[in-house]
Amino acid sequence: MKYSRLFSKTSKTVPHDADSANARLLAQAGFIHQEIAGVYTFLPLGLKVLRNIEQIIREAMEAVGGQEILMPAMTPKSVWKQTDRWDHFDALFRFEGMGDKEYALGATHEEIVTPLAKEYAFSYKDFPFAVFQIQNKFRNEPRAKSGILRGREFAMKDLYSFHTSEKDLDKYYEEVKKAYLKLFERLGFDPQITYTTYASGGTFSQFSHEFQVLSEVGEDTIYTCAKCKLAVNKEIIDKQNSCPECGNSDLKEKKGIEVGNIFKLGTKFSDAFNFKYTDEDGKQKPVIMGCYGVGSSRVMGSIVEVFNDEKGIIWPKSVAPYQVHLVSLGKDGVVFKAADKLYEKLSKAGIDTLYDNRDLGAGVKLADADLIGIPVRLVVSSRTLESDSAEWKERDKKEAENVKLTEIEKKIKVYYS
Ligand code: ATP
Ligand code: MG
Repeated sequence: MKYSRLFSKTSKTVPHDADSANARLLAQAGFIHQEIAGVYTFLPLGLKVLRNIEQIIREAMEAVGGQEILMPAMTPKSVWKQTDRWDHFDALFRFEGMGDKEYALGATHEEIVTPLAKEYAFSYKDFPFAVFQIQNKFRNEPRAKSGILRGREFAMKDLYSFHTSEKDLDKYYEEVKKAYLKLFERLGFDPQITYTTYASGGTFSQFSHEFQVLSEVGEDTIYTCAKCKLAVNKEIIDKQNSCPECGNSDLKEKKGIEVGNIFKLGTKFSDAFNFKYTDEDGKQKPVIMGCYGVGSSRVMGSIVEVFNDEKGIIWPKSVAPYQVHLVSLGKDGVVFKAADKLYEKLSKAGIDTLYDNRDLGAGVKLADADLIGIPVRLVVSSRTLESDSAEWKERDKKEAENVKLTEIEKKIKVYYS
């Protein structure tokens, strides 16, 4: 992509909602645009990152046997009435007074997925199974804040699993718990700052588990055991005031962002929708469920909170909007030609490149590259061309080196392998 053609542009104006690094940097670098409080457009750069995150999540969910579906955002009032959440889910956006067209915007999808699964699964032979979707959710949050960390419309992956026994749910739950830790690592979070956190579990189990990434902007207060990478959420610290694994009672208070959570639903929703299966003896038994969420847009915001410096964003390789940020410097026609040629060569080799071909000064172009935060920056100038090279600089490193134009493609492939 040639920067001169890119839909969004960087901006020096600090947005008025800039209460956090992600709100400020993502807007100034041209990744997102706020429409109203808690509601954002994802611009081309931002959508590329979000799609990369979603693809990594998708692969992780398929690896635990999840099958992808897409449920509607418009959901009928009747199902919310059936679970008694129409009147008790405060954040639900409800559309009332429209005759038979009363509905809510999907805030979560147990009310849709449970009657849906009931249409297809009857016998113990049909179990277990899991379905997931990646979709926008709507919640009337009393306080939208911290950019895309807490929105009123936001992106989420929600997986639902269906079982014939608690034991089978427990087994699957542990499998997903492990898969989540791997997933968050693949998304770029150092395992050192990702804590599996014990939280309240509802009626069916003592605890649920949240996945918290340490960050000062986090809304959650958690008590961490550094040794076990486990934590206890403040909301249940009275019930559980030591590490659930090693018993360590010297827990450290930290701030965390909840990027995901997993929950044993038991028969709460299958009871509400009378979802039963026939067991080996022909008896009808209630289906047992679990649900597993990851806030994909919140993940994107959290990455920016964790990976930034005074100059801008520092994207992890796995989710970066482009692999290479190519910059031509100077007014020399020879330089432009050489940079054009390199851009074409990289594009042909399937290397996703943002090419800043604008006729602007070095200061502006390099500052933009730092702000946008693509992992590798390549600069072509008359100086680098003296040795048939481009300057290679990684966004998270201080030093730069010259690399022969003929070697660059290989070096990029190695870097990303
Ligand atoms: P929170 O405790 O932060 O309000 P939650 O416990 O209500 O979240 P779930 O309903 O389980 O969250 O949703 C699953 C995931 O979706 C959360 O772990 C979080 O990452 C993300 N999420 C929840 N609410 C929002 C929001 N308003 N904006 C962005 N992401 C959100
Ligand atoms: Mg929560």
